[in-house]
Amino acid sequence: MSERADLVVVGAGIVGLATARAVLAARPGAKVIILDKEGSVAGHQTGRNSGVIHAGVYYKPGSEKARFCTTGRQAMVEFCKDNGVAYEICGKVVVATSPDELGALSDLEKRCQDNNVPIERIDGARLRELEPYAAGISALHVKVTGIADYPGVCTVMVRQLLKAGAELRLSTAVQSGTDRSEGMVIHTDGGDIIADRVVSCAGLQSDRVARAISGPDGAGGMQIVPFRGEYFELAPSKTHLVRALIYPVPDARFPFLGVHLTKGVNGHVHAGPNAVLALAREGYSWRERNYTDLRETLMFPGFQKLARKYWKYGASEMARSLSRARFARALQKLVPAVQERDLEPAAAGVRAQALNADGSLVDDFAFVQRGRALHVINAPSPAATASLEIGKAIAARLELV
Ligand SMILES: Cc1cc2nc3c(=O)[nH]c(=O)nc-3n(C[C@H](O)[C@H](O)[C@H](O)COP(=O)(O)OP(=O)(O)OC[C@H]3O[C@@H](n4cnc5c(N)ncnc54)[C@H](O)[C@@H]3O)c2cc1C
Repeated sequence: MSERADLVVVGAGIVGLATARAVLAARPGAKVIILDKEGSVAGHQTGRNSGVIHAGVYYKPGSEKARFCTTGRQAMVEFCKDNGVAYEICGKVVVATSPDELGALSDLEKRCQDNNVPIERIDGARLRELEPYAAGISALHVKVTGIADYPGVCTVMVRQLLKAGAELRLSTAVQSGTDRSEGMVIHTDGGDIIADRVVSCAGLQSDRVARAISGPDGAGGMQIVPFRGEYFELAPSKTHLVRALIYPVPDARFPFLGVHLTKGVNGHVHAGPNAVLALAREGYSWRERNYTDLRETLMFPGFQKLARKYWKYGASEMARSLSRARFARALQKLVPAVQERDLEPAAAGVRAQALNADGSLVDDFAFVQRGRALHVINAPSPAATASLEIGKAIAARLELV
């Protein structure tokens, strides 16, 4: 006899944990089992990101990213405040360093207005009051942006979930699913579970897990392409160069924000991330390669189309990955005093970016529902910021609230 559950959540990253939390808040006493293949929670994207509580500057008005980020940001701040998790609303500046970036900065300003994100357009002199070492002729000052300890958020969520009766099974990989009249059977390497509902929040493996559970169409035709984001840390003697968060004007064609400088809740200053194709879905350096992952990426028609269109961008990101001097030059545009010798290597993260077969990057959060299962296929930044809101939305879609 297999074990029964009301809900199985696949993935103990911040989205999976927030989903379990939303369901248990609405249905106290429900039997919720959370599974993760790793030996700890937040082992992938959630534990390897920039730690920023985003304000909602960049997202298309009306998109789920825009909506969930605004409400999710406030919920995340409340959560941190209520539970003693380290956070700070330190604000950020998005900086135009040359006249040819002013148009894009104005577009971003307009987008903030459309998204109801309070910002102030400032000149170079005001920028230097906020960030004395920043270069720039004009900037947006986003006061409501902050930083948070997301792994710390997950630790608290786990404590609350266990208290509410949820079970967390680590080192348990989901292998497949079988839809039966009595429920969805989730086959794991630790045995089977029959669930009334299943939510998969598997990050870098989201498309594979969705297909394994719900069949070839489980991921709605999307495929994950892993983009590694590499970071450096400013040497301790140089952290005074950055007071809060300094971002460039992003290239609107891509979902990446450009290398930026961010102060963490521990006072360290991170520089990055860039965006290079990872040679393994969970490949945190050039040395980590997985030929199955790589073949799958290269054979995907969507990736081939993307690569043909943007090979120049990809090549320049790769060159910057291989040369600390180039990385330093990108940072010097924002803060000229940063020197190559000030950069110390730091842990990288890998973004799970969903791609359509036509080569378009999936911009918004993407969910695919198949019977009793709901699969989160695309949950890139700002999904950590918005996680509490995403969790609530998933619970509502599953009619579990
Ligand atoms: C470099 C980088 C910088 C970022 N910066 C920010 C930021 O500043 N602010 C922000 O809001 N967002 C940021 N993000 C995005 C944010 O980190 C992610 O959107 C968020 O963490 C996604 O959470 P998740 O739970 O969906 O995925 P993950 O945290 O990746 O969790 C997925 C989990 O699923 C598990 N899993 C996978 N396959 C299986 C299986 N078969 N069986 C069981 N378990 C499985 C994995 O082990 C993993 O623990 C950044 C991301 C990256 C990579």
